Order: sequence, then C-alpha cells, then structure tokens
Amino acid sequence: MEENQRLLGYIQNLKKRCIEFVEKPRLKEYTTVGIGGKVGVVVEPKSAWQIAQATALAKKWQLKTKIIGGGSNIVGVDEESNLVVVRIGSDFGNIICESEKILVEAGASIGGVQNFALKNNLGGLEKFVGIPATIGGFVAMNGGAFGVSVCDVIESVTVLKNGEQIKILKKDCDFSYRHSRFQNSGEVIVQVVLGLEKRKTAEIIRTTRDFMEIRRNKQPHNVKTFGSVFKNPVGEYAGKLIESVGLKGYREGDCRFSPKHGNFIENLGNGNRSEVNKLIDTAREKVYNIYKIELEQEVLFL
Ligand SMILES: Cc1cc2nc3c(=O)[nH]c(=O)nc-3n(C[C@H](O)[C@H](O)[C@H](O)COP(=O)(O)OP(=O)(O)OC[C@H]3O[C@@H](n4cnc5c(N)ncnc54)[C@H](O)[C@@H]3O)c2cc1C
Repeated sequence: MEENQRLLGYIQNLKKRCIEFVEKPRLKEYTTVGIGGKVGVVVEPKSAWQIAQATALAKKWQLKTKIIGGGSNIVGVDEESNLVVVRIGSDFGNIICESEKILVEAGASIGGVQNFALKNNLGGLEKFVGIPATIGGFVAMNGGAFGVSVCDVIESVTVLKNGEQIKILKKDCDFSYRHSRFQNSGEVIVQVVLGLEKRKTAEIIRTTRDFMEIRRNKQPHNVKTFGSVFKNPVGEYAGKLIESVGLKGYREGDCRFSPKHGNFIENLGNGNRSEVNKLIDTAREKVYNIYKIELEQEVLFL
C-alpha cells in the first residue's frame, strides 16, 4: 500500500479512538526556530493510553514516528513528508510534591517546574532558567546549563514502552553530556522524579535572577532559535571557536550565526533547513581546518 494511503488509514484509526490530531500542519509551527515543512499529522494525545495507541497504530501502518515536546531542539525538513509527530505537551503537565522530591509529568515546561519548586522551597533547578523545553525533552537530551545537567537532579524516569509503563532508575538511563538512552530507545517519557534540596525562597529567587541575567547578556533572546547548534568539545566552547573563525553574525539567506553568541543560529524570518545546513557545514569546515577539532551537532534534524 502507498504511504499516502497508509497515512489515511492511520488517521481513520485516530478518529475512531477520538484521539486529537492536526492533519498536514507545517512543523515550523511546532518548533521554536520556526523551521519545518508539512508533516503527515501532529497527534495531540491526552492520556498515556492515547500515546500508546498513537505510536502502536503508526507502527501498524508503517509510518515513521517522532515524539516531540517543546520543539526547542528541533529543525524540521523543508520538504513535505508523511511523518507522524506525537506531541507531549501541556496536557501532561501535572506536578506533585513528596517531601524533597517532585514528580513531574513529561509535558510540564521547565519554567512551570521551577515555579512549582519555588513554591515548595525546593532548589536545584535555578540554572535551567530561560530554557523553553518540556521536562520530557529536557531529560531525553540530558539538557543543562552552567555546568549542571538535568541528570544531576533525576532519581527515576517512567516511560511508556509497547503500551506498558516502566520505571527506570537514573543509573540505567545511560546519561552523558547531552545524551540519554531515550534518544534511540523508542520509549516515551511520561513522568520524571526529581530529587531537590530545601532552600530559602529568597535565595532561590536571587540565584534564578542572576542566571537569567547572565543568559540575557550572553545569548540572543526574542529571536527564533533552537539553542546550541553544537556540543562543546572537551575543554572548549563551540561558541568561542565559531567566533574565532570569523563566523559570528555570518548569514545564509534568512539564517545567521547570532551576532551575540556564536553557537546560536537565528531565523530572521523565512529561514529554512538548507540554510541551517549550510551554516553548520561552513562552521564545521572552518573550525576543523584551523583547529583540527570536529564539531558535533547538538540540534536534532527531523
Ligand atoms: C532559547 C533557547 C535556549 C536554550 N538553552 C538551552 C540550554 O541552556 N541548555 C540546553 O541543554 N538546551 C538548551 N536549549 C535547547 C533545548 O531547549 C533543549 O535541547 C531541550 O532539552 C529540548 O526540549 P523540548 O521539550 O523542546 O524537546 P524537543 O525539541 O521537542 O525534542 C528534543 C528531543 O527529545 C525527544 N523527546 C521530547 N519529548 C520526549 C518524551 N516525552 N519522551 C521521549 N523523548 C522525547 C525528541 O524526540 C527529541 O529527540 C535551548 C533552546 C532555546 C530555543
């Protein structure tokens, strides 16, 4: 059966199960950088059962599936595709406090989790201020800032795999710098348990403000970006390397390396994936030619 027909069959099955979806949307609407052409469908599940159904049906209809959260580390392809995108968003935003632990559903935003922690006098998340991610995406990427990664505060992660919920302890998550097992395992993160520390409200507020100020001064804001383009090589900063080869502010079409921070690409309007690709290739080549350092991409291409 042709892929278009399989997509129609999939959509019929979603309708029968009353699972909400958007047909043929542009992925750019779901990514912070605003890049990505039409995909087959974006599914908006409201329960773990619906996530399990949406992913199992996509498998049955042999359609490629991708889970997304806040879309803040993703660049979509420009060409139209029949990709099934399952978005774990604010319908999975519940947070519960148990002593010094908080149990967070995967679609909760980092900002929401920080506010909740503050109300409960729990510190440990302050350095993540200003990151526009869901906790599910943040854990999958093992995101972090200012020398702290989310795995430093994780106790366990609950995933959905083949329709079953499984609790995975931190030691089994295979965390390393901007990496976790969830990037390739096909497991969907549904809940995360964070172990935090009691702190004074005023102290949490002050530290959070300080880190926000550093971020504001160093990184672009109020522009469409996807965060860091490259991982920092050991002992180096990707942004500094890009700056030193003269690429800060360098432009391809509607995309450019930020004049404020070399490791950010900004979409100035109608930027596209091929422009992002050209910028990435140029930076890799120049940095390699001069420093013999291979830059490894952090941003993900869908
Ligand atoms: C302005 C800006 C600043 C940023 N600053 C930082 C920073 O300081 N540090 C940092 O680490 N990153 C930063 N980023 C990048 C980005 O926010 C992180 O990579 C974040 O972890 C992505 O989360 P997300 O929810 O947007 O995930 P998405 O971009 O939607 O997805 C990222 C990956 O996670 C997977 N994923 C998402 N949800 C789930 C789930 N529930 N279960 C399984 N897999 C899932 C996706 O399949 C994909 O592989 C920044 C981005 C922007 C735009």
